[in-house]
Amino acid sequence: MLDKAVLDQIRTHAANSAPQECCGIFTGTANRITAAQPAANVHPSPESHFEIDPAALIAAHRAARGGGAQVLGYYHSHPDGPARPSTEDRAQASGDGRIWAIIGKDLDVTLWRDDENQFTPLPYTVSHS
Ligand SMILES: [Zn+2]
Repeated sequence: MLDKAVLDQIRTHAANSAPQECCGIFTGTANRITAAQPAANVHPSPESHFEIDPAALIAAHRAARGGGAQVLGYYHSHPDGPARPSTEDRAQASGDGRIWAIIGKDLDVTLWRDDENQFTPLPYTVSHS
């Protein structure tokens, strides 16, 4: 489940970052994504790649260990492409079971599970509460 506010936030982040890819971290509880933390895209070619600022990742994991929201996954945009994993994304997949959201050029959002099959489409519902 994805909160409507989070969905709006990541679409706005994607739109404002184009033509570069935006990226960030999802946090929440169990299977409910309740917050998106925008992060700097530190990849040297941000128009076609993304790399979440390692400092942001470390901070999110540290907060989770300290009793904060769990790190559920990551989001990034494809300013010039479809909302599905690219060849680059498949190369980056670690199979750690986390959720990846991809925002396509039309600001459509898809969710995927980074599992042993690389990316499995993850149906989701949007919570308006
Ligand atoms: Zn991608």
